[in-house]
Amino acid sequence: MDRDLILEPAREIPVSHAVDVVVAGGGPAGLIGAIASARRGAGTLLIEKNGFPGGMATSGLVGPIASVRSRDGKFRLVGGIPWEMILRMEAAGGAYLRTPCKMPDVPAIEPDIRYGSDFNKGGIPFDPEIYKWVADRMLREAGVDILYHTSVAASVSTGRNLEAVVVESKSGRQAVAAKVFIDATGDADLAAFSGVEYESGRPGDNSLQPMSLVFRLSGVDTTSLGDISKITILEDIRERAAELAEKGLLPVFGGPWISWGSTFRHGEVMVNMTRVWGDATDSQAISLGESAARDHMFSFTQFLREEFAAFRNCVIMDSGCHIGVRETRRIIGRYRLEEKDLRASRQFHDSVAIGGHIIDIHSTMPSIDQIRQSLPAYLIPYRCMLPRGIDNLLVAGRPISASHESHASLRVQGTCMCIGQAAGTAAALAVENRSGAADIDPAELQRELRKDGALIDKGVEENL
Ligand SMILES: Cc1cc2nc3c(=O)[nH]c(=O)nc-3n(C[C@H](O)[C@H](O)[C@H](O)COP(=O)(O)OP(=O)(O)OC[C@H]3O[C@@H](n4cnc5c(N)ncnc54)[C@H](O)[C@@H]3O)c2cc1C
Repeated sequence: MDRDLILEPAREIPVSHAVDVVVAGGGPAGLIGAIASARRGAGTLLIEKNGFPGGMATSGLVGPIASVRSRDGKFRLVGGIPWEMILRMEAAGGAYLRTPCKMPDVPAIEPDIRYGSDFNKGGIPFDPEIYKWVADRMLREAGVDILYHTSVAASVSTGRNLEAVVVESKSGRQAVAAKVFIDATGDADLAAFSGVEYESGRPGDNSLQPMSLVFRLSGVDTTSLGDISKITILEDIRERAAELAEKGLLPVFGGPWISWGSTFRHGEVMVNMTRVWGDATDSQAISLGESAARDHMFSFTQFLREEFAAFRNCVIMDSGCHIGVRETRRIIGRYRLEEKDLRASRQFHDSVAIGGHIIDIHSTMPSIDQIRQSLPAYLIPYRCMLPRGIDNLLVAGRPISASHESHASLRVQGTCMCIGQAAGTAAALAVENRSGAADIDPAELQRELRKDGALIDKGVEENL
């Protein structure tokens, strides 16, 4: 074919569902958002392209669930439904909360704060299969209808109102109508398909943080590695890998962070080491990146096996079924969360969630160093979830309206889960009030969130 564009013929497609609230994407933000919405009585449909919930936590094997607690471990920043889910995961043997009675017997070492390894105090390692199972059960118990293996591909709107999303699956192309929509796709797909303005990447050149295919190894002598419950960069491994990469004998790498995260079993580690660059909203780029990262995973495993005694007998258990994506679109919303807001722990009249993770900007190009800066706990206002131009759309999770730097902190799972609860509650309130998402009284939203245990202005002191 010698044409760059073709005209897709118009056709009628069935409206498979008409509900109160559609949640696009069932990652940490979307799954919690769907539960929150359904628990308030709104007819809620979750549309997820994988066959399970959890997003990067389960499809990317990315862990631990970060920013559940403040960096010093003194305050819990996550409450409400996310905390309930973590406790249920723990009860099912699928999360490691580090309570003294459950602490496995691992030797303590000094955390290496140069690489921010002490931030693990805020993180919860978990088992991805138990995560999927618990999340699925909570979704079903709340009465959420679920369409797995279904992608949101387009939207239909009238003026400032979204009418329906167009989905694609084995059932073909269908439409799903709703009163309010939540975009929790991680990439703001629905917002972008609906014409919402967005930014991507670093100011100036729009370069994006790298993608990483996370993998898990078993057969590792974890006892000899020290306290792998922490996000650990093992200095001898880093130095040797750098030496080999410099000579072109190993691929470019990050970290390597070798620790518990998406596992907390003795003999197993999660490895976050591969680094490839590209725009994950471009299917060609993500395909090439994922394929290259798979090669790198085997090179790194071979390297660990050959060079370090603790890894001599290791085998690859699995890798993410989706490469880890740190950064794509950020919507232009009614408020843009700035780095200075985070640093000053700025108060907002419409705060709905608390963040506290470091600003963690992985090298946006191989030649650029990683930026890691600590932050105090900070507040996230509701307006960051409201795109301009559409009245019945909320955006939850990592693509909310924020600067490149703020995004690099709030993108972690604990914070995204809390943003999700706020989005789901707001969507259900909008349905109840027959109003636009932006017309909700923030005080009413905050009242309802507090009632449901969400922490929206200060953390809870905890003694670990
Ligand atoms: C390598 C790496 C390491 C990280 N380390 C940590 C860490 O240690 N701790 C931590 O807390 N966070 C970490 N993060 C960040 C964190 O995992 C993500 O930013 C977080 O999961 C974002 O949550 P989300 O719900 O916004 O999006 P996602 O987790 O990306 O979920 C989005 C969901 O939407 C679905 N979806 C996407 N597009 C569509 C569509 N068009 N139609 C239907 N469904 C769709 C996806 O399948 C997915 O399930 C890391 C990220 C990476 C990449």
